[in-house]
Amino acid sequence: MPRKKLSMKERVRRKREHDEFRQSEAAKNAVAMKLRRMDDNIRHEEQERDTAAHAERRQIDVYREEENERNRIEHSTRREDQSYREVEKERDRIEHSTRREDESYREVEKERDRIEHSTRREDGSYREVEKQRDRIEHSTRREDESYREVENERNRIEHSTRREDGSYREVEKQRDRIEHSTRRENESYREVENERNKIEHSTRRENESYREVQNERNRIEHSTRRENETYKYTEQQQNTINKAVSRHKAQIDYANLCKSFQSEILDQPRWICSSCGGLWYRSSMHPTTTETVRKLHPKKSYAHMKVDGKYFLCGTCHDSLKNSDVPRLCMSNGLYFPPIPHQLQNMTTLEERLVALRLPFAQIRSLGSDRQYGIRGGVVNVPNDMDIVAKVIPRRFDETSTVQVQLKRRISYKHPYMFQTIRPYKVFHAANYLVRTELYKKENVFLSSDWANSVSRVSQVINSVSFECTPGRS
Ligand SMILES: [Zn+2]
Repeated sequence: MPRKKLSMKERVRRKREHDEFRQSEAAKNAVAMKLRRMDDNIRHEEQERDTAAHAERRQIDVYREEENERNRIEHSTRREDQSYREVEKERDRIEHSTRREDESYREVEKERDRIEHSTRREDGSYREVEKQRDRIEHSTRREDESYREVENERNRIEHSTRREDGSYREVEKQRDRIEHSTRRENESYREVENERNKIEHSTRRENESYREVQNERNRIEHSTRRENETYKYTEQQQNTINKAVSRHKAQIDYANLCKSFQSEILDQPRWICSSCGGLWYRSSMHPTTTETVRKLHPKKSYAHMKVDGKYFLCGTCHDSLKNSDVPRLCMSNGLYFPPIPHQLQNMTTLEERLVALRLPFAQIRSLGSDRQYGIRGGVVNVPNDMDIVAKVIPRRFDETSTVQVQLKRRISYKHPYMFQTIRPYKVFHAANYLVRTELYKKENVFLSSDWANSVSRVSQVINSVSFECTPGRS
């Protein structure tokens, strides 16, 4: 039986039943495929075909899920190897930074991150954790002084820039106000704040101009408020109540009353007005600055008018200065006390009387119990005869001699008005000085011309001299 000629297909099929053939065929095909794939076009076509086939397969949900799961498992299996994981990270890092070189990519990424972040922040607990983390990071960074300074400076600039916007400023003020009132609900905070304010305020008020501006502002505010009738009435009522309360308190607090009485009667009028030189009680005085006093006395020294290290002004002088006037009684208005010539220094009252042009007689009596004195009745001026003085004085021009002199208002009176020992040389020197002054020249007073001649006569020991001052002569 002739062998039936088999078709090519059939022959190949039969040959393939043998493993050997199949293996050699597979090897041959692999080589052929490899050769074909060396051609770019063929390779690309193949890749495209594969990609298309893969995409088609992936349209089937079941296939896609299976593939994803498979990939995931493969990936996590590979990542169990630490070195693989590191390589992967490094690769990702490089890829990422390469991609970020493209600005548009960077923009997209930022936007995505922003959205992701804000989504995450919708979760309250996440937000808390994030805040806590940020807080710790920040305080760690602020431990570095240079960082802190840079941050402070930056904040300062940002803040002042923001405050240029009026509405921002308003919002800020409102916020501060609320925060502040919330903090003040805490009593200890309130006390500390009050104490601090009190100190700051009193420090500021030591500055006179500040004090005046503030007083003026308060005065205006108060009078504005009082234009409201209801306010005025309420204030009056309140004042009445306050007064009654404080009066009652003062009346029952005897210990305090005694204390304040004793401290007040200890007070002396020892405060010098730096303008008029008057002596006053502390309660009448206003502290002033060295600059003000220097302006008042441009040519004279004024340091001696300091009391307890400060300068003061009396009420009258203070008011004048407030109205920018020179005080009427200011010593620079020709009211400085003239210096006392040495001839007139250290004279007793009777010695002074012997050389005075007029002898004033007046009754000066203490007024009540508070150490004040007042003049009572009229004042009698008696002209003094200088010649008498000159005639009766010195027996010798000896500085140690003294003469006892009785001064009577009338010679017929039994008791003298004054009875003292005088030093003739002192009186003579004073008289000698005074007759050369303008006032004495005008009154035609001369020093006794025969004083020198009478020295020997007077020296016949006149231990006691009485003379009469006749009222009415002028
Ligand atoms: Zn004064």
